[in-house]
Amino acid sequence: MTTTSVPPLDPPLRVLLGPGPSDVPSRVLQAMAAPTIGHLDPEYLRIMDDTRSLLRQVFRTDNEITVAMPGTGSSGMETCVANLIEPGHEMVVCVNGVFGTRMADVAGRCGATVHRVEAPWGEVIEPEAIEKGLAEHPGTRVVGIVHAETSTGAHQPLVEISRLVHEAGALLLVDAVTSLGGVELKVDDWTIDACYSGTQKCLSCPPGLAPVTFSPAAFDAVRARKSKVQSWYLDLSMIAQYWGESRVYHHTAPVNMSYALYEALRIVAEEGQEAREARHLLNHRALRAGLEAMSLRYIPSRSLPNLNAVHVPEGIDDAAVRRRLLTEYGIEIGAGLGPFKGRAWRIGLMGHSSTQRNVTMVLAALETILGDLGASLDRGAALAAAGDVYAGGGR
Ligand SMILES: *Cc1c(COP(=O)(O)O)cnc(C)c1O
Repeated sequence: MTTTSVPPLDPPLRVLLGPGPSDVPSRVLQAMAAPTIGHLDPEYLRIMDDTRSLLRQVFRTDNEITVAMPGTGSSGMETCVANLIEPGHEMVVCVNGVFGTRMADVAGRCGATVHRVEAPWGEVIEPEAIEKGLAEHPGTRVVGIVHAETSTGAHQPLVEISRLVHEAGALLLVDAVTSLGGVELKVDDWTIDACYSGTQKCLSCPPGLAPVTFSPAAFDAVRARKSKVQSWYLDLSMIAQYWGESRVYHHTAPVNMSYALYEALRIVAEEGQEAREARHLLNHRALRAGLEAMSLRYIPSRSLPNLNAVHVPEGIDDAAVRRRLLTEYGIEIGAGLGPFKGRAWRIGLMGHSSTQRNVTMVLAALETILGDLGASLDRGAALAAAGDVYAGGGR
């Protein structure tokens, strides 16, 4: 077998309306093809500094410790937990879906004594539940919670929870992988101590980096550690030296991925955060009107605008619908996870994917496929309902 028997790389052009990655603007893809330079080249250091200011803007923070970690969103999760937790520390983790479950797993691996505060999948965590958890575990150092639970589409309010966490003397750690750049998130105003995200959801950059920010209080806790951070690669005290004045070599930065993030963040800044959030909201309202006109029911009580999770109708084959969307229309949507396996669709409208064109296309395609499969629906009603929203009426 010779290497030439392997076909040339030729990925199809898709419309990415799943839980991530989202569609990547060509400006961002082109940025990745720029010449690779050294990770200590003065021009690369300038790119890092400007990336950091853009990240502060999008996180809405003045935090000195604001970096892009190598790896996907999960690397951001591990960075935050590994740096804040020492073996034996108590951590409250809020669990109402896949990503809270994952955070509890990571915390346990870092040696934390984990106390779970749970809510049913699709629900948000109520402040009273956190209050109770903190009263039962007064030694809690860190409370971890997911802002946008991508597995269920639940949109978690944070302001009241932040107050309770700080009253108890703990630090607040927030997963903003799906919310950053799409949903309102205010790290400083909401007193979030540690926050991480990923590039491939609402920032519309390929997967590969994890923006992370630590408040002064959170970084003080890192500096006050008695033991070394269990992960050499994710140790923020060393990473901070590479991003800071001294520029001490730690790892070879993923240079071309950084170009992509730089360009993606410039696009976010050009659009403006409020305009971007408003765009996500409008397209969500139109999609929702269309889905509900097809009698599809939303799962979460408080839905995210950028991740729309609905029940698969009774008698409809989940996988067959997703296969037809992909093969006939080139549209990817997400399947259900955990208790929703085979029973939910997750339609992402993230970043560059959140457009009137995509909303119209996915509604039309779904209506055609569901109609073919014998679902009782009023053909044309979905697009009419979405059209009303765009026309300014809404329902
Ligand atoms: C996608 C996601 C992650 C994990 O990110 P990866 O890039 O897949 O590693 C973590 N948390 C939430 C809420 C996510 O949506």
